Amino acid sequence: MQINIDTNSGFCFGVVNAIETAERYLENHDELYCLGDIVHNNMEVERLEKMGLKTITHDDLAQMKNATVLLRAHGEPPSTYETAVKNNITLVDASCPVVLRLQNRVLKGWENIRKMNGQLVIYGKEGHAEVLGLDGQTDGNAIVVGSIADLDKIDFTRPIELFTQTTKGKEGFAAIIKAIEQRIEAEGTEIPFIVNDSLCGAVSNRAPQMREFSAKNDVIVFVSGQKSSNGKYLYSVCQEINKRSYFVSSPDEIDPSWFSAETNSVGVCGATSTPMWLMENVAKKVEEITSTN
Ligand code: SF4
Repeated sequence: MQINIDTNSGFCFGVVNAIETAERYLENHDELYCLGDIVHNNMEVERLEKMGLKTITHDDLAQMKNATVLLRAHGEPPSTYETAVKNNITLVDASCPVVLRLQNRVLKGWENIRKMNGQLVIYGKEGHAEVLGLDGQTDGNAIVVGSIADLDKIDFTRPIELFTQTTKGKEGFAAIIKAIEQRIEAEGTEIPFIVNDSLCGAVSNRAPQMREFSAKNDVIVFVSGQKSSNGKYLYSVCQEINKRSYFVSSPDEIDPSWFSAETNSVGVCGATSTPMWLMENVAKKVEEITSTN
């Protein structure tokens, strides 16, 4: 039986940059605080914690003084930078450049739409770190919608400017745009509706590759942390194509019943927050299981 690891899976450049920044710092220092999980993958967080990384919360940050704190790829709202200045905290800013550019676009979008008595809407996960950073550009005035069911939060008689969290799926974003257009039409008013496609190519470009990979293998083992947004999206892409797709966060979660004597190939793939070493460990475990089956 063949076990294939998807070479297109694994960390995106934003996550690579954050992790390498932490590793470089820890080569010369005993510890580094990180505001929130550096990556939505517990096993990678544990590896870095062994090197001296200490994960803290925003409440911890508010209490700290004279420390050095890493900002991860998701980006932070302006209030975090203000707290750092107030508490004499040195920031090692590993915010992804794609997210920083988006924050700037949201800031400008908000300045524009508020002049029109409009609303800035973010298609994303309420409470997600990146969404909090984007909402911070609007002083907390953004309307966050996670699904079509949330659209009642929007006033369809006032102008709307729409952005999306970088890691959402193209299909979900298209569905939200269509649903908003329908609601505006139903209202019967002519209002400006400005759509900003702010999806990150590092995630959305993976979907077609993942479809192809899922079709080529009999069974798919998708590796990701439970908290990863892009992990949820990319796993749904695998499931769409291959019904024998399974989600695991670690090699221990692999169930031998997923593989049968007729299974000729198993594909191992993952999210932009999944380390390659973890996918390799999963592939090894699949090999152990299938060789004794
Ligand atoms: S998914 Fe895109 S925006 Fe998010 S960290 Fe990776 S490269 Fe940056």
